[in-house]
Amino acid sequence: MACIFCDIVSGRAEASRVHEDEQVLAFMDIRPMTPGHLLVIPKQHATNLAELDPDLAGPLFATAQRLAAALRRSPLEPAGINLFLADGIAAGQEVFHVHLHVLPRNPGDGLGL
Ligand code: 5GP
Ligand code: ZN
Repeated sequence: MACIFCDIVSGRAEASRVHEDEQVLAFMDIRPMTPGHLLVIPKQHATNLAELDPDLAGPLFATAQRLAAALRRSPLEPAGINLFLADGIAAGQEVFHVHLHVLPRNPGDGLGL
C-alpha cells in the first residue's frame, strides 16, 4: 500500500532530513505548525501506535528528545516544545505511518495551551 513516509525513507519522495540512523528517520514537516516543526518516524512501516515494534519506541523517543534539545539550542530558541503523536483519525492522524511530532512552542504562537 502506498505510504508517503515509506517513500521518504526509501528516497522515492523528498524531505529535509535532520537525522537518520538504522531504525529512525527525522525530517521537517512539510506544513509546519510552527517554525522548526519536525517529524520522527520508525523506518519500518507501522500504521499506528499498536503496530509499532515496542523495541523501536525507545529509539524513536530518544531521537525526539535529542532533536528537542537541538531545537532549544538553535537560533529558533523556542520557549517550549510539544512532543505528540496522533493515533487514529479521531485523534487527528492524517498519515498512517506512525510518527512523533517535535513542535517548537512560544507564547502567542496561536496554537493555544
Ligand atoms: P498527523 O496529523 O498524521 O499527526 O501528521 C501528519 C503530518 O505529516 C502533518 O503535520 C503534515 O504536514 C505532515 N506531512 C504530510 N505529508 C508530508 C510529506 O509528504 N512530507 C513531509 N515532510 N511532511 C508531510
Ligand atoms: Zn509507511
